[in-house]
Amino acid sequence: MERLDDVNAWRAYADAQRAQGRRVGLVPTMGALHAGHASLLGEAKAAGDVVIATVFVNPRQFNDAADLRGYPRTPEADYAVAEACGVDCLVEPTLAQMWPDYPRPTSTTVSVRGVSEVLEGADRPGHFDGVASVVAKLFAITGPCRAYFGEKDFQQLVVVRQMVRDLALPVDVRGCPIVRDEDGLALASRNVRLSAEGRTRALALSRALGAVSGAGTASGHRRRMLEVLDAAGVEIAYAEVVDPLTLAASGDDEEGERRALVAGVVEGVRLIDNGPVTLVTKESHALSN
Ligand code: AMP
Repeated sequence: MERLDDVNAWRAYADAQRAQGRRVGLVPTMGALHAGHASLLGEAKAAGDVVIATVFVNPRQFNDAADLRGYPRTPEADYAVAEACGVDCLVEPTLAQMWPDYPRPTSTTVSVRGVSEVLEGADRPGHFDGVASVVAKLFAITGPCRAYFGEKDFQQLVVVRQMVRDLALPVDVRGCPIVRDEDGLALASRNVRLSAEGRTRALALSRALGAVSGAGTASGHRRRMLEVLDAAGVEIAYAEVVDPLTLAASGDDEEGERRALVAGVVEGVRLIDNGPVTLVTKESHALSN
C-alpha cells in the first residue's frame, strides 16, 4: 500500500493509474476508521477500482471548536484497516497542503444552496460549505473517479451529488448502505465518546426509525419518531420525513418512498441516522384497513 501526504504525489498517482487504463475509486474519510468506512472500501474493491482512501479531519466543516479538538484521531489503526481492506493508496494530507490559508477563510467556497440549508445545515452553520469545498478539492486533486459515500450521512450524499451535477465534475458518486452495530446503532467515529449509558440512550435513534417502518402519513411518522426520541431522553435536533433528492419536507398529501432522518445530542455527542419510509395519505390508509 502506498502512503502519501503530498497533494502533487497523490494527483500523479491517480493520473498514472488512469494512464494504465485503471479506474480510480476514491473513499474520502476523516479517519478513526470503522466497519462503516471498511464497507465503502470493500465496495470500491468489489467494483475493481484502484482504491485511494483519504484521511483528513477537515476543520472547515466543524462549526464547534470542541468537537474538532475532541475528534478521534487514530492514524496507526487507520493504516491497519486500510491495508486489511486492500486500499492501494492511503492519503493523509496535511492541513497546510489542504488549506494553506487556514485559519483564515478561503477566498473560494463551494456552497450548494437549498439542500445544504435544511436539517444538519440549519443547526450547523457553514458545515456543508466546509464539506462541499473540501470534497470539491479532493475531486479536483484525484481527477476522474468513482467516489464512495455512506448513506449514514444522507444529507452529505445529497449535497455532494448536487455539487457534481451542478459543476459537471467527472465523478461517479456511489451511495453505500449504513453499517450498524448488532444493537442497531449506526457506526460513527464519534460513538467512542459515549458512555455505556449514553450508548443505550443513543439506540433511540435507530429505534425511532424502526417505529416508522410501516406505511403512514408524514406527520404521523414525525410524531412517532419524536415520541421515541423524547421517551429516551435524547436532546432532539430534528425528526423529519423528506424527499430523498431535494430534502424538501414531505406533506400529508404525499404518497410513496421518502427518507426519514433523525438527529439528536447524547452526552454532548451529536448523532444522526436515517432510513427509508413509505408514505400513504390518511384516506388511502383508511381504505386499505
Ligand atoms: P467520516 O469519516 O465520518 O467523514 O465518514 C467517511 C465516509 O464514511 C462518509 O461517506 C460516511 O457517510 C461513511 N460512513 C461513516 N459511517 C458509516 C456507516 N456507519 N455506514 C456506512 N457509511 C458510513
